Amino acid sequence: MGLFDRFKKGLGRTREKLATGLRSVLRIGQRIDEETLHKLEDVMLAADFGPTTTQKLIDVVRTGWKAGEIAEEQQVTEYLRRHVSSLWPESDRSIRFAESGPTVILVTGINGSGKTTSVAKLGYYFTQTGKRVILGACDTFRAAAVEQLSIWSQRVGVQIVKHDQGADPGAVAYDACEAAVARNADVLLIDTAGRLHTQEHLMRELGKIQKVVERKIPGAPHEVLLVLDATVGQNALNQARQFSQHVSVTGIFLAKLDGSAKGGVVVGIRDQLNVPVKFVGLGETPADIEPFDPVVFAEAMFAE
Ligand code: GDP
Ligand code: MG
Repeated sequence: MGLFDRFKKGLGRTREKLATGLRSVLRIGQRIDEETLHKLEDVMLAADFGPTTTQKLIDVVRTGWKAGEIAEEQQVTEYLRRHVSSLWPESDRSIRFAESGPTVILVTGINGSGKTTSVAKLGYYFTQTGKRVILGACDTFRAAAVEQLSIWSQRVGVQIVKHDQGADPGAVAYDACEAAVARNADVLLIDTAGRLHTQEHLMRELGKIQKVVERKIPGAPHEVLLVLDATVGQNALNQARQFSQHVSVTGIFLAKLDGSAKGGVVVGIRDQLNVPVKFVGLGETPADIEPFDPVVFAEAMFAE
């Protein structure tokens, strides 16, 4: 399946909701008026573009309409699609790789957002591109967490560095860095325990993991990816804001886009936060990962 089809399938629920909404609002042969824009606003809010971003996009359509670039309701979807796909610069999408030695990617987020699964997907993805990957099991909090990542590492065929449950995550990070250097790994992916920004001690723990990594490998962590659950819609934006106050988040892994009718949140994240979406999760298997491609994304999102 090509990228467009994968996005289209993954965005299924968002796309259907949007397509149905747009079809009912944008009628054949009708000219655009303020009423059109008003109804369009409701459709976009329902797909979780969020109030601020929706308002901006409506203004874009209004400006295009007033300037005579579009006149018919039928032209609106294409106009929106083009605008949405132009929101992301190329540089946004790439992973910042180390110039030499392992690239360290720290993965964080709240409980259940999809961190461990996303680490497995990233492991699979980088392996597919010929890189040597090691996983660091720094979620030592829950009994099943280390076990879950171990199973993934076997399925994906990558090495893992782990301690027992209850171990100091900083110590695991330390060992994982040593192993990554000693074994000439290209990428070290660090899974961490779920946490909320209000849990001061856990946020400090994350800071500590980051410090350990910084000391062990120059320039690390090269990426701090925040995993957000797309099904929570606008709330994901709040999580991103809150985490960014504690750690320097360099990118977002938007998980569960396949189960969400709220894919518009991707556009909201771009518009509202200074953090790019780098990957999306489109299912529960390791292969269900795609680097975020805005043009394909927008095409799939606004597909009939
Ligand atoms: P963590 O607590 O953040 O480590 O979250 P997990 O990786 O354990 O995932 C929590 C649940 O979300 C699991 O049931 C995963 O299978 C599921 N999940 C993770 N990513 C995706 C995704 O992209 N799509 C779907 N449909 N489910 C996902
Ligand atoms: Mg986990």
